Amino acid sequence: MMQVDTLIAGATLVTMDAQRRVITDGAIAMTGDRIVAVGKRSEIEPQCAARERIDGRRFVATPGFINGHVHLTETLLKGFIPEHLPFDEGLHRWVIPLYQGHTPSEQAIAARLAVLSMLRTGTTTFLEAGTLIAFDAVAEAISDTGMRGRIGRWTMDRAFAPDQDQSALTDAAIAALERDLSAHPDDGRLIAAWPLLVGHNTNTGELWRAASALARDKGVGIAAHMAPAQDDPDWYLASTGKRPVEWLADLGVLGPHLSLVHMVHVDDAEVALLAQSGTNVVHCPAAALKGGYGAGPRGLFPEMADAGVNLLLGTDGADTHDLMRAATTIAGLFKDARRDTALFPAEAALEMLTVNAARAMGLLDSIGSIEPGKKADIVLHDTDRPEWRPLHHPAAQLVWSADGRGVHSVWVDGRRVVDDYRCTTIEEDRLLAEAQVSAEAVVARSGLPRLSAWPVS
Ligand SMILES: [Zn+2]
Repeated sequence: MMQVDTLIAGATLVTMDAQRRVITDGAIAMTGDRIVAVGKRSEIEPQCAARERIDGRRFVATPGFINGHVHLTETLLKGFIPEHLPFDEGLHRWVIPLYQGHTPSEQAIAARLAVLSMLRTGTTTFLEAGTLIAFDAVAEAISDTGMRGRIGRWTMDRAFAPDQDQSALTDAAIAALERDLSAHPDDGRLIAAWPLLVGHNTNTGELWRAASALARDKGVGIAAHMAPAQDDPDWYLASTGKRPVEWLADLGVLGPHLSLVHMVHVDDAEVALLAQSGTNVVHCPAAALKGGYGAGPRGLFPEMADAGVNLLLGTDGADTHDLMRAATTIAGLFKDARRDTALFPAEAALEMLTVNAARAMGLLDSIGSIEPGKKADIVLHDTDRPEWRPLHHPAAQLVWSADGRGVHSVWVDGRRVVDDYRCTTIEEDRLLAEAQVSAEAVVARSGLPRLSAWPVS
């Protein structure tokens, strides 16, 4: 008999293992932070003496989902920024000033709210967007949530004003990245710092090379925003004579350690460079739809998938951090745009949330699937809900019927962080109240109007 901590018995397992097995009446045994046995209940249960046995018959179990791009500290802006604004006006008049107007404690509350939103909807690991301003306050605030994540300081260095000293800006950015990676090393702890860049046109080639070298030296990843709109290729073509991915290729920074985010406005040559280099691409479907990026008509994501580019998904900004909704969108976006129902089946969408994202984060050996030896990052989806009945095809229904609101329980690193729809590591009622008060303070301080198409009394 094998002594184990927890046995989940009788669940339907969507394992995401190499064979992509779906196991009905399955069992998962966990000990410490690891999965130790996976299979049919009839085979696993007789071998295990479990300290805790969970009746899994009402659940579909998946690996914890992995959010490839999330702004932890934008959550207090949810619902406030009007959706009709042109991209530049939205960014420069609203998003950035509001964002920079948060105090450190408000950023900490925003980040905890983002973590709560992710855990409660089945995301166990995230790659932050490299846009933390109060970096240390946020790192501290999320350290006890039990979530796994990689975070980065707000990092831009390009001197746009003539009186700015370019080399001083670049040196300061590199020094900050080095300091963060030393203070929060990726040494097995749940929350670690990575050299994550704001990207677009805000980072010089020198910083790109330094950040990439730092990432390779420390064995971590790097990420940056690129080409959500036509502005980025236009700027790079005018300034360098090259498209963004060509420019990055010439710098020597493409590779499996790099994740480029958005990547809607790329051309065929750039897709080929991404594929050859093993560079990961993070698509944020909700941001693309709401921002009118043109992902459906213009995006080459099906071509990237065909070329072997590793694709994953992110939730990006404030509206929702339910990654299952992103899976639904990617599964439908190109079927509609190309009138081709074969594009991005539900299974492909689930791979983006799990194994593809684990690979992009350099964590495929430890997360992304339910397999013995991997970290115990497990999600139980409650099928005793209208959207889950009848249950015919777990993978299809995870993407097309369910969403994160059906997540009943979550383990990260073997620790149960959601139990019966409640987060065990965050005092939810208190955090929600703090978030409302803080958000109102941020908005009031900004002086920006509360716009509504309808009269509000
Ligand atoms: Zn972003």
